[in-house]
Amino acid sequence: MSVKDNLKNIQENIIAACSKANRNAEEIKIIAVTKYVSIDRAIEAVEAGVTHLGENRDDGLLSKWEELKDKPTWHFIGSLQTRKVKNVIDKVDYIHSLDRLSLAKEINKRATRTINCLVQVNVSGEESKHGMEPEAVCDFVKQLEGCPNIHVAGLMTMAPFTEDESMIRDCFRRLKNLQLEVKNLKLDFASCNELSMGMSNDYRLAIEEGATMVRIGTALVGQESQEVK
Ligand SMILES: *Cc1c(COP(=O)(O)O)cnc(C)c1O
Repeated sequence: MSVKDNLKNIQENIIAACSKANRNAEEIKIIAVTKYVSIDRAIEAVEAGVTHLGENRDDGLLSKWEELKDKPTWHFIGSLQTRKVKNVIDKVDYIHSLDRLSLAKEINKRATRTINCLVQVNVSGEESKHGMEPEAVCDFVKQLEGCPNIHVAGLMTMAPFTEDESMIRDCFRRLKNLQLEVKNLKLDFASCNELSMGMSNDYRLAIEEGATMVRIGTALVGQESQEVK
């Protein structure tokens, strides 16, 4: 399937999920996750009208950035090693994987402008998942006052690995509640308007539960090859 056809399909599903939840579909940003596909496929996505691209590794981001430069808005969605911050900092608009103070300090130090960061939260508690414990998020956000180059744009999570819809919904709902707690801190460096949750298999549920950013790889651009990272 072409990216264009996939995109049309996804947009229709988003409109349906929004009307179910009484939301405006214009609130939702579709991030095309291009980590499994070639540069050509990423270009195809941008030509099809995708305006946000996401990558989870520094080398994948850099190779695609070389081609597309600032045409799309760039999202770094994978766990980010502190020593790799300098490779991506001037290329990315959003970092979805802020999960520790040492990383915040490095982002703050290397940034030459404000970087929109989303705090990654391990809501499900699965050991394999990155992100901080929900209980720690508000204190962590307060500590970011000392990092003037960071704006806390929102929160991000990954749903538990399960077919159980109610467990997935519960995870998304808990992130939404946590977002309200952070907003209630009323910190000018933490508007926290974005909720990055939902991937190919669960973006409809995520939107029903309040997602503003969905990170879609397989259902949008496919998976071309295992070798392409
Ligand atoms: C790979 C990835 C996605 C996209 O996954 P799909 O199931 O292919 O849509 C979304 N978010 C993160 C953090 C990822 O690593």
